[in-house]
Parts: sequence; structure tokens; C-alpha cells
Amino acid sequence: KAILEAGWNFDNSYARLPETFYSRLEPPPVRSPKLIVLNERLAASLGLDAQALRGSDGVAVLAGNRIPEGASPLAQAYAGHQFGHFTMLGDGRALLLGEQITPDNTRVDIQLKGSGRTPYSRGGDGRAALGPMLREYIISEAMHGLGIPTTRSLAVVTTGEEIIRETELPGAVLTRVAASHVRVGTFQYAANWGDVEELRTLADYTIQRHYPAADAAENRYLALLQEVIKRQAALIAKWQLVGFIHGVMNTDNMALSGETIDYGPCAFMDAYDPATVFSSIDVQGRYAYGNQPSIAAWNLARLAEALLPLLHDDEDQAIRLAEDAISGFVELFGRHWLAGMRAKLGLFNEEPEDEALMKDLLVMMQQHRADYTNTFRALTFDKHEDLAFNGTAEFAQWHELWQARRGRQQEPQDSSKQLMRSSNPALIPRNHRVEEALNAAVEHGDYSVMERLVQALLNPYAHSPEQVEYCTLPAPSNRPYRTFC
Ligand code: AMP
Ligand code: MG
Ligand code: MG
Repeated sequence: KAILEAGWNFDNSYARLPETFYSRLEPPPVRSPKLIVLNERLAASLGLDAQALRGSDGVAVLAGNRIPEGASPLAQAYAGHQFGHFTMLGDGRALLLGEQITPDNTRVDIQLKGSGRTPYSRGGDGRAALGPMLREYIISEAMHGLGIPTTRSLAVVTTGEEIIRETELPGAVLTRVAASHVRVGTFQYAANWGDVEELRTLADYTIQRHYPAADAAENRYLALLQEVIKRQAALIAKWQLVGFIHGVMNTDNMALSGETIDYGPCAFMDAYDPATVFSSIDVQGRYAYGNQPSIAAWNLARLAEALLPLLHDDEDQAIRLAEDAISGFVELFGRHWLAGMRAKLGLFNEEPEDEALMKDLLVMMQQHRADYTNTFRALTFDKHEDLAFNGTAEFAQWHELWQARRGRQQEPQDSSKQLMRSSNPALIPRNHRVEEALNAAVEHGDYSVMERLVQALLNPYAHSPEQVEYCTLPAPSNRPYRTFC
């Protein structure tokens, strides 16, 4: 029983939901699976044996060629607003193998992404290319290193098959690990294509899986909505604080668990500018950096709409409850962002003028096209010569205000510096570094560049000398950086 030796330990609660929520199917086999990268530390925390996963039976599982005992593969049904337009979607190129129960008794989805066609594939081939799957691997692990809730990446295998995009590309399957794949779009699907009982079943399921405390609330479905809003407010604030741009914040890409999910054309902002967009398909800038909080609120309003029949028997009352909950998002987000920004500036206590101090800094950064990450790093280590606006009168004035402000707290300067060190990452997955790693992997079969990058990104707050090479900016280019789905 080689497969059992790998440590798979499934219990599949999603597969016990009404059949309307999914389609059962086995992935079509791929020609010749080859393991490209395995996340050994993650495997260990899941109770999986890395050596067994590297064996041919293990790799066959990661490619979808072999179903481990206890798995119950299915494609999930969901809907979603894509760039504002509502449509039926579903796992068109992914399968939920099942839920792994880990040694510390947590339940996580094991999903194969790029595993082939499903009933929800529409015109698509159900496949994924190696580059984008490695990109998800790198960025999701970087997000984890930064301390941001995220799905994880267990492995990437190539399929030995070419897939057709603009050119022929090597096909690949990513094994994604998630708290769950219940999305805003799953609720939209239930609300639009299911009956109220199915909607209630999904809401109860989500409460049980992610928000057990809501179970005891007087209005449990309102409590669910409020708790999701809280987690999203905290999550989006974390994105903003590190300059992460998701790129496709469609409602099907927002998880009820509060994890960052579905890494497509995402990228980290370099020069500070709220209008920053990298995704080639986001021509209107709907998902620009500065729009992410309001888009999150918009997506949560779609969740609230889907939940209306459960919030109150009287529709007007239900709408009022939903609106109150949604309007709470802005305040919650603002509080998280302010708290995070205070930490980035080494501030422990609160003063009403803090927000103005932050905004003045951001205005300077925008005017001078200052690198977001490196600006905070330079402030952390008093390396003013690295600041784009060093030597300007505005900076001198701002710096004086900031120093005076740091003086108006009980904590000593050393603690303030320590707070800044642990709040301002030295490392983010810089676009040119990610491209360099992907190029070495996809064009030359050299995975060492990527492995070194991922290793470095695991400790972005270490500020160790050997990491400095990853902090440098690319040579100036007149071509804007673009990402693709
Ligand atoms: P995404 O942009 O990855 O969030 O995907 C949006 C929708 O398109 C989801 O329903 C996906 O399953 C589906 N999709 C994306 N790529 C493919 C593909 N190659 N084949 C079939 N469905 C796909
Ligand atoms: Mg079904
Ligand atoms: Mg998606």
C-alpha cells in the first residue's frame, strides 16, 4: 500500500453536501508526470511523507493519474462576477481531491489545478501551463512568508503534454492546499441556482468549517457575514501594507476562509502609485492597487445579497442588516491599515494626526516614484541616501515631524526600530526576480533559481546580509511590467 504510506488521510465533508454543489469525476490521466518542485516543509506539516510523494505512486497522485485511498475527487460548482459581469463558472481546470486531516487535526482542501476538463470547463482545455503554476507556487509561498493568510502550494508536476496557448507550452498540475475553496461565488451560485434550503446548507457548512463561534449567535447568518467581513478587512489591509496586487478580484476569487486565493496575474507594486495595474486583461484598472479595498467591499456586498433570504424573513429588514454589515468594512479596513502603518513607522501609541503623517509620506513617495518596499526599508535602517526624495525640504520637514512623533511614546527608540524591522519586509517577490526564476525553469529546465528565491522569501523580515541581492531594483525599462493569466 505505497499510497497510504505517503500519509494521505482524507475526510471529505464537501462531498457530503447536496450534489448540486459539485460534479464527481476522476481526472483524465496525463502522459508522463514528472515532479518539478515539492514543498517538503508543507508536506511534513500535512502529515505527508516527502519521500513517498517523490516516488512514482506519489507523483502519480500529484498528477491526477492515481486517486489515493479515501479521496473523493470532484469539481466544485460556483458562479461569480468577473470584472463586474455575473456568470456561471465552476472548477473548469481543477479538482478537489478531498480534505486532508493533518496531524494537528486541521482540515485542508487538496486541490489539483490544471488537472483536465470538467463539466464546468466551457470552451477551455482544463489544463494549465508550467510558468503560471510555478508563479502561483512562488507568490503563494512568499505571501505565507510575509505572514499573510493564503492558500499554499504543495507541488508542481509537469504532465509531459504540450498545451496550446499563443504557442505550445509545457502542461503542469499544481497541488494547492487551502483552508477551503468556498468562495463568494459559491454563495452566488447557491442563491441563483439553488433553493433556500441549499443556500442554508452551504451557510451552515461554512459556519461549521470556518466560523464555529457564529453558531451560537442570535442571528447566525448575520454573524457569518460579519465575521467574513472582518477577515477580509484584515486580509486586504495586509495586502495594501506590503503592496500586493491580486489582479483578478472577481467574486469567485474571494474565499470565505479569509485566505488569499487564486494567484493569476498578481504582482507586487514597485514604485508607489495607487493606480498601479500589472494584469494585461485589466484594461480599465478595475483591480488597481488603490481600488482593492473598495472592490473587496463590493464583493462582500454580493455575498450579503446572496445571504439575504437567510438574514431575515422580512426583506427590508434583511437589506438593512446587510447594509449595516457592509458599511462596517470600511471602518474595519481603515483600522487595520492604520495599525499596520503605525507599526511600519515604529509607532506604538495612537495620535489623531498619525493618518496625516502617513498620507504625507505616501504623497512624497508617489511624487518621486519611490519604491514602496525599499522606502520603508531605508526608513527602518536610517539609510536616507537610499530614499528617492532624500535631500528635499519636504522630506526634511516630514522627518522632523516623524522623529518628534516617535518621541511621544513610552517605548524606547530601540523598540521602535525593532517594530519597524518586523513590520517592513526586506524581501518581496520582485517582478524581475520572479521572471528570472520562471525563465530559468521554463526555458532552461533550471529550477535552482526558483528554489533559491523561494527559500529567501520564506524569511522576508530577517534583514540578513545575504538577502540584499534580492532587494535591488531592476534596471530602468521603458516597457511597463505586464502579467498574464
Ligand atoms: P480564474 O481566472 O483562474 O479564476 O478562472 C476563472 C474561471 O475560468 C474558472 O471557472 C476556471 O475554472 C476557468 N478556467 C480558467 N482556465 C481554464 C482552462 N484552461 N480550462 C477550463 N476552464 C478554465
Ligand atoms: Mg452535481
Ligand atoms: Mg478563479
